Amino acid sequence: RLSRRLKLVASYLPKSAYFADIGSDHAYLPVTVCSHDLSAKALAGEINEGPFKAAKQHVGAYGLHDRIEVRRGDGLTIIEEDPVKQVTIAGMGGSLIRSILETGEEYLKSVDLLILQPNVDSYDLRHWMVTSPFSLVDEQILEEDGHIYEVLVAKRGQSGFNEMSYKQLLLGPILMKEKSKPFISKWKRERDNKERIVEQMKLATSPNQLKIDQFIKDIQLINEVIEND
Ligand code: SAM
Repeated sequence: RLSRRLKLVASYLPKSAYFADIGSDHAYLPVTVCSHDLSAKALAGEINEGPFKAAKQHVGAYGLHDRIEVRRGDGLTIIEEDPVKQVTIAGMGGSLIRSILETGEEYLKSVDLLILQPNVDSYDLRHWMVTSPFSLVDEQILEEDGHIYEVLVAKRGQSGFNEMSYKQLLLGPILMKEKSKPFISKWKRERDNKERIVEQMKLATSPNQLKIDQFIKDIQLINEVIEND
């Protein structure tokens, strides 16, 4: 059974999707999607030998070799010339996802939908989106097994958020309006961490005032949004 986290990622794929899942590990996502939708096709990309083999095995066990091609390679390069329409990248840090998108932008020519699930640093992805050909159209946050995950969805074109304030980049323009339970717990925890770090930084022999000010600014922004919750 697919995790709720990956189910949420899958729920943004259209019927008859033709997508590349980058960092696919066991190819759980493509296998589930293609088992449920007989008109869906996918590429599963893996940089590491172990997960690459596991993905091949899993796809074979489900008899899906004809619709899921497992390729070994770095990031988006595995797309080569294939006209995939959607890209999913899940379970990595936001800065790694960003660098995969940035370095492989030429492979996104036929892609009109990105479904990204950063474990941390979703700021980096939103920041990339405002200067990329894609714009943020939806965001979700969920808690599973004690972890909090975010899913960011971007479409080619200007239909989403083309500009975001620092606060929106940090917290997410949609998530900060919804203020769901996992959102509040995430940002309470982040704020408490930042407060602890500020206290520690102040104790240093030569405190980095710029850094301290940045953390204090973040704490204020977070408090503005989660106060009274
Ligand atoms: N996407 C799956 C999920 O969400 O459950 C697997 C996540 S797993 C934590 C991250 C996977 O990304 C690992 O299998 C790793 O080998 C792969 N990976 C890391 N960097 C990569 C890159 N630059 N290109 C392709 N795969 C990469």
